[in-house]
This record gives sequence, structure tokens and C-alpha cells, in this order.
Amino acid sequence: MFDLSAYNTFNLTVYAQEGRVIATPEDLAQPVRGPFIILGGGSDVLFTEDFAGTVLINRIMGIEYGPKLDVHGQPTADDNATHILVRVGGGVLLDDFIATMIAEGICGLENLSLIPGTVGAAPIQNVGAYGVEIGELIACVEAREVLSGKCVTLTKEQCRFSYRSSIFKEQGWSNLFITHVIFKLPLRFTPQVNYAGLQSCEFKNAAALRARVIALRTEKLPNPKYVGNAGSFFKNPYVSAAKVAELQAHYGTVPCYLQSDGRYKLAAGWLIDQAHCRGIKHGQVGTWGKQALVIVNLGGAKPHEVVALAKYVSAEVRNQFALDLVPEVRLYGKHGEISWDQI
Ligand SMILES: Cc1cc2nc3c(=O)[nH]c(=O)nc-3n(C[C@H](O)[C@H](O)[C@H](O)COP(=O)(O)OP(=O)(O)OC[C@H]3O[C@@H](n4cnc5c(N)ncnc54)[C@H](O)[C@@H]3O)c2cc1C
Repeated sequence: MFDLSAYNTFNLTVYAQEGRVIATPEDLAQPVRGPFIILGGGSDVLFTEDFAGTVLINRIMGIEYGPKLDVHGQPTADDNATHILVRVGGGVLLDDFIATMIAEGICGLENLSLIPGTVGAAPIQNVGAYGVEIGELIACVEAREVLSGKCVTLTKEQCRFSYRSSIFKEQGWSNLFITHVIFKLPLRFTPQVNYAGLQSCEFKNAAALRARVIALRTEKLPNPKYVGNAGSFFKNPYVSAAKVAELQAHYGTVPCYLQSDGRYKLAAGWLIDQAHCRGIKHGQVGTWGKQALVIVNLGGAKPHEVVALAKYVSAEVRNQFALDLVPEVRLYGKHGEISWDQI
């Protein structure tokens, strides 16, 4: 049995039948029998019980610098280059990569500072924070089909990035192990400061913006090193303008963000807060006092306790707002991924 405690940031004690570290793409040539799960840092997963299969842990490292590009996307050696291509091993920690880029004078990723997990997992749910989504900065993704060993390269367009989603979450694509991500990153700093908390500040460079994002996140979110959690447990729901108007009539100001399709993104944390579920404790699990969207392991929690609290919170929100929360965290059971309705 392979102990997964160090491979899930909820810090739950769960086991897989086998664990394999993948340090190079060639390591995937060894056949996998039975069900398998790909893991990076385990910061977006909830194991609801032991897993009767193999866990493939991505530790493919390395950062390679490609050509600089001009405004037309053509390789150039002159000083007018606007972007650079960078190929990164999927096992590199995203935050280490961001720190390295900033030290090298390469920008664009600073708003995503301190998001836990690996570069290889980041395209899966198109990680985003403070008004930036990683898909915007990706040129292409390299992957291998775990069962056939076939190499696949998907362009940014083929990845179909959207809010906390991509093609990699669609049926038929879960066999792909992301080995490398190729980024197209700007060489000049353009601060993305549309998000609350960044608007009132002036940033001289990417390092200053990164420092501010780190300060905001540290203030609001529990550090999984000390308090087990997987970040936002639920996605922010999208609703119609009519639903927003209905909520405003009852609650006054409602935090929401207009989307390009005319719908609004509501803050799930606000809904949970209004449903009186912020900072609650049920046994060894609770919701974080400074961000209700985060479910935390208060020490020695069992998987079923996390599931029960998540179900309780979603039921309270449904009762009060007639809205269904959907988990952002990926759920795994004995034989592989399971849906929210199955637990
Ligand atoms: C404190 C905290 C804060 C967070 N804040 C944010 C945030 O601001 N924004 C945000 O978007 N997310 C956030 N997250 C969620 C999480 O960090 C991201 O989803 C991250 O990309 C997960 O990376 P990982 O390596 O830990 O993936 P894992 O949890 O190991 O895996 C997540 C999913 O991706 C799949 N996967 C992983 N690696 C690969 C691969 N190489 N190939 C194919 N499939 C793979 C897994 O099978 C699984 O389904 C937060 C989490 C925590 C704990």
C-alpha cells in the first residue's frame, strides 16, 4: 500500500495500492495495470476513501528558454522582442516557476503567485487568481496518453480554457499526463490590477505585484503546510441578471462580476457566509474563518467528515438561495474519480 498523506494537501490519511514517481516522460512507458490517478501536489483533490489503483506522481522538472518573439509572434534576436517562449516540466512547482521568471525579468504570471501545486496541473482547471487565468499565458501543452504512450501537443485554442476548466476535464481526455507546458510570456511588465485589493496600488515591477498578491493571500487563506485544505472547495456559481436582481432586493450589495455572456459570477464564499457557514466546526473539519469557501482539516479528520461538511454547506446554501454549489476540488473514490452526486 502507498501512503498518500504527503500527497494530498487536505492531509488526510488515505492509501493507494501503488505509487509511482514519474521523473521523465519515458517513465510512463512502463505499463499501468488497472485504474490510475495522475497527481501533482495533491492540492486540488479529495480522496473520499482508499484508492484501489496506481497513483502516478508528476516530478518532471526543468525550465528551458525558447526564442524571443516580436509583436507578430516571429522569432527575433533584437531588442524589440515582446515575448519569450518557456518550456517547463510539469512537476515544477508553479510558485517556484513564477519566482524564477520574475528573477529573470519575465512577466505575466505574478498575479498567480502562491497558488499551490505543479505547473502540469495548472492547465487542467485553468488556475486563476486576482484577474488572471493561466490559460492566457500558455502557448501549448505537451502530454502523453498513459495507456498507449502516444505523445500529444495541444495548442492554447485546442485546450479550450474557460473558468476553472479546460479540455483536460472533458470525457475521453483524462488519460493524458501533462509532461510539459510551453508558456508565451511578456518581457515587459503590464500590471493587471482590476481586482479588488490591487486597484488602489501602484506597482513598479512584477516583483512588487507578486509581493502584494502573496501578502493578500497569506492574510486570507490557510497555509496547507499547517492547516490541511485544498483551497476553494466550491466553484463560484454563474447566474442570470434576474437572479442577481432578486438577491440584491433581499441583501443589498451582492458581490458579483459581469461575464462576457451576460451572466454574473457570484462569490461562493459570500453565499456560504450569508448561509451562516463561515468559521463553523463539525468534529475535526470546519470552514475557514477568513474565507468561508475553504474547508479545513482541523487535525486528524477523516475523509467522510470532509464530505459531510461539504454536503452540509451546499445544502444550507441551496435552502437559502436555491442555488447549487459544485465542487472545484476533484473527488476520488475506490476506483477513480467520482462525481459530487455519487457521494
Ligand atoms: C491554499 C490553496 C489555495 C489555492 N488557490 C487557488 C487559486 O487561487 N486559484 C486556483 O485556480 N486554484 C487554487 N488552488 C487549487 C490548486 O492549487 C490548483 O488547482 C493546482 O493547479 C493543483 O495543482 P496540483 O499539482 O496540486 O494538482 P493535483 O491536486 O495533484 O491534481 C489536480 C487535478 O489535476 C490532475 N493532474 C495533476 N497533474 C496532472 C498532470 N501532470 N497531467 C494530467 N492531469 C494532472 C489530477 O489528476 C487532478 O484531477 C488552491 C489550493 C490551495 C490548497
